[in-house]
Amino acid sequence: MSEEKTFADLDLSPEVMGALKKMGVKRPTTIQQKAIPLMMDNVSVIAKAPTGTGKTFAFGIPILEYLNMDSKFVQALILCPTRELALQITTELKGLAKYIKGFRIAALIGGQSMRLQSEKIQKRPQVIVATPGRLIDMVGRKLVDISEIYTLVLDEADEMLKMGFINDIRKVMALTPKDKQIALFSATMPREIQNITWEFMSDAAEIDVMPKAEDHPDIDQFIVECPEKDKLKTIIRIMAKEDLRKTIIFCNTKVTTSKVGAQLTAAGVSARILHGDISQSVRNKVMDQYRADKFDVLVATDVVARGIDVDDIEAIFNYDIPKENELYLHRIGRTARAGKSGKAFSLVAYLERPRMEEIIRYTKVDPKPYEL
Ligand code: ADP
Ligand code: MG
Repeated sequence: MSEEKTFADLDLSPEVMGALKKMGVKRPTTIQQKAIPLMMDNVSVIAKAPTGTGKTFAFGIPILEYLNMDSKFVQALILCPTRELALQITTELKGLAKYIKGFRIAALIGGQSMRLQSEKIQKRPQVIVATPGRLIDMVGRKLVDISEIYTLVLDEADEMLKMGFINDIRKVMALTPKDKQIALFSATMPREIQNITWEFMSDAAEIDVMPKAEDHPDIDQFIVECPEKDKLKTIIRIMAKEDLRKTIIFCNTKVTTSKVGAQLTAAGVSARILHGDISQSVRNKVMDQYRADKFDVLVATDVVARGIDVDDIEAIFNYDIPKENELYLHRIGRTARAGKSGKAFSLVAYLERPRMEEIIRYTKVDPKPYEL
């Protein structure tokens, strides 16, 4: 029963088809096959989809296909939870719009000066990507007008909620046209999000792309049982044995990232750390350096890891077992991006065994014991 759609089936413009070809993107992912035709028909969508399934193009393609290049108004507004994600979405959409003449996009995020961002708005972008707090702030100061948009995207809505953006999202709903198209993407559908969909999206089509271990077919997953105090030593041994270079080590806390980062540096491994208390400009610099292969090992907490998209990560390590089940899938999804293969090693101390077992039950992953 194959009803696989190709990009050609989706009636895309030569500009977008050309950009996809240039990026080496061949077949639409499940969420893209389902969301693109609906959104191109101006239908609102509520999509449950885990990270790494290609959501950016799922909403980006329909938005680009419908831009009116003569209009002076902001036509599409994309809200997402973090600055990193906003910048990443902006970069991906710029790539997708490579052949669209006059395309302008602006990222409005905290941590950048208002003056710089006002200058971006004066260039009259058709598309704005923003974190909710900063957007509301700028609308309040009348620096940006969102009263004429026709599409609103809420990307990673559950994460925005966790970060306390629910009131800002409600304000955006009120400040934008009643009949706009809304595309809401969320890995989970907690009550607060259902409330939003009931209140504002009664005509929406629902799309459900389950978080499946099969979505990560090219990730070899391993469990390494190991006392807490030996974890770093063990990671270094695995890196040597597997000949791994570009990797991410996930920790549950900022304190642990600092400790692990310092120990790696002391062991002669080129590593940098990333967590929520590090300033935005430093975070951006670290991510740029990581993409440019200036160092090998990124030690990070989940806050900054979500949605981070670097193509050639060979493996990820769970130094700590994540506190939430879905985080396991998010973390391992950082490797094996864009059709490459990857490895995921979870270092499980005795006390973490029940946690790991729950993750396996819940996510239906099947990590194998690792023999060092
Ligand atoms: P999500 O938002 O669901 O986490 P992204 O939109 O960030 O996922 O996409 C993840 C990665 O997959 C990106 O590197 C993106 O360029 C790539 N990608 C997106 N769509 C496709 C596709 N149809 N085929 C191959 N790679 C794709
Ligand atoms: Mg995304």
